[in-house]
Amino acid sequence: MVSFSDAVALVTGAGSGIGRAAALEFADRGASVVVADVDTEGSEETVAQIEDGGGDAIFVETDVTDPEATDSMVETAVDEFGRLDYAFNNAGIGGEQATVDRYDPDEWRAVIDVNLVGVFNCMRSELGRMQDQEEGGVIVNNSSVLGKVGFATSSGYSAAKHGVLGLTKSAALENGETGVRINAVCPGFIDTPLLAEGGMSSGSEAREQIESRHAMNRLGTPEEIANAVVWLCDDDASFVTGEALGVDGGYLSQ
Ligand code: NAP
Repeated sequence: MVSFSDAVALVTGAGSGIGRAAALEFADRGASVVVADVDTEGSEETVAQIEDGGGDAIFVETDVTDPEATDSMVETAVDEFGRLDYAFNNAGIGGEQATVDRYDPDEWRAVIDVNLVGVFNCMRSELGRMQDQEEGGVIVNNSSVLGKVGFATSSGYSAAKHGVLGLTKSAALENGETGVRINAVCPGFIDTPLLAEGGMSSGSEAREQIESRHAMNRLGTPEEIANAVVWLCDDDASFVTGEALGVDGGYLSQ
């Protein structure tokens, strides 16, 4: 297992699902972890799990749609732990499911605001700090397979996730020589509360249909995404930047 001892990792949306799994994985490998989320209860549980495992973590209540909040999130990370090495910009929502002609405009804007503008706000706040560090840093953004293909009734979500890939690639070009690598993961459908809220609870017909779209005929686990995120942060991935890494059980191989 790669060691991240003395490193500091920040994870947004770490109070649940993929974010919590990533926070635990960073902590298992020795990093101090900043758990950033709007969900206080879930985040406190993540911090407790990290501390129970002998790790170090703090919760910073953060709404990623607010640029002042993301600035303050990074400032708190640095005040508390002295630096910021890795950031996993993961917070996201599923949003309304409706065809474009029936989509509520405010709901559409809300999905873009959290899933795309939120990632921009986080990167804007994180980059300055990482560029100033001699050791640089690594940013991983959470896109989706729906950042590469569409999905009927999820236009806002898919548009936001496509946008995250454009943002990732542009920032990677801007930072090629600053010592900051920037990549994205594109998970297939992962077994988390977000999926259950989208009508794909365990045993449902909708879920079986979704499972069958993956070559492996199953959903992924949050831990499988967390493993890809920490690999992208590790020096083993030192020549990887601007990449949109599919972690999707073959969803996009069809
Ligand atoms: P999840 O279990 O619902 O976790 C998302 C976390 O983000 C929740 O704690 C949520 O808080 C928080 N959050 C929501 N809005 C926020 C905001 N404005 N600021 C800060 N935190 C906020 O979902 P997940 O499935 O782990 O998803 C995590 C990421 O993976 C998302 O970006 C999602 O699009 C992406 N993803 C998921 C899948 C999948 O199949 N699950 C597939 C591909 C990509 P609340 O619960 O209070 O809203």
